[in-house]
Amino acid sequence: MLDRQRGKIIFECDVCGDTLDTETGDFNEARALLEREEWKARKMGSDWLHSCSKCGVPSERAPLAKASRLL
Ligand SMILES: [Zn+2]
Repeated sequence: MLDRQRGKIIFECDVCGDTLDTETGDFNEARALLEREEWKARKMGSDWLHSCSKCGVPSERAPLAKASRLL
């Protein structure tokens, strides 16, 4: 998930709860850091799921992801 604390964007791994403190309020900068740190982001319906480099893509084990592969 993406959170903001005092204007700064923080990503939290939806699998293990680890956090990535980006130290910026600029979404593009935050996303660039996300990619540099090898975190993953994937849109699930209207929500974005995030996962750290250790956990990989979170949605692959989720039922919704399996359903979308069948389409
Ligand atoms: Zn994780």
